Amino acid sequence: MTVFSLRNVRLRTGEQFRDEVEVQLEPLALGGAEYLPVPATVPAQLTITKATSGSVFELSFRARLHGPCFRCLRDTVVDESVNAREYQASNPDGDPELESPYVADDALDLSAWARDALALGLPDKILHSPDCAGLCFVCGKDLNEEPHTHDEAEADPRWAALDELRGKL
Ligand SMILES: [Zn+2]
Ligand SMILES: [Zn+2]
Repeated sequence: MTVFSLRNVRLRTGEQFRDEVEVQLEPLALGGAEYLPVPATVPAQLTITKATSGSVFELSFRARLHGPCFRCLRDTVVDESVNAREYQASNPDGDPELESPYVADDALDLSAWARDALALGLPDKILHSPDCAGLCFVCGKDLNEEPHTHDEAEADPRWAALDELRGKL
């Protein structure tokens, strides 16, 4: 987990701090599957700008995620560019709109921020190809490799069970 200490960043209004930081990325859980960042640590550009009423935090990085295709489960790689922005008021007075969830005790939780920003930028369904045909509901074979259909009697598992029973009698 990468936490950036804000203790040594003392800025006056209008001043900006800019640095390259190494951010450790966490695996993402999406639709019951896990997507692993490769590499797990990426260089990121962190910018902190002091405004009159608070601080603006900006984080930019590129990440590559490995995980299953949503439809056919084959290994899929997703590249994403993240440009995230957070605002933290000097006196938020408990207003969540004025408070960044990643700032606490003079520290910025870069790993949690990077994880959420990555998740926000991902498509709802990660597909190995936009026209992925998926797996056959009946036999489970990959329809991208073996396009096929089943006739209806075969497609209904209840009939299959009945046939099996008949065979035993
Ligand atoms: Zn697929
Ligand atoms: Zn099939």
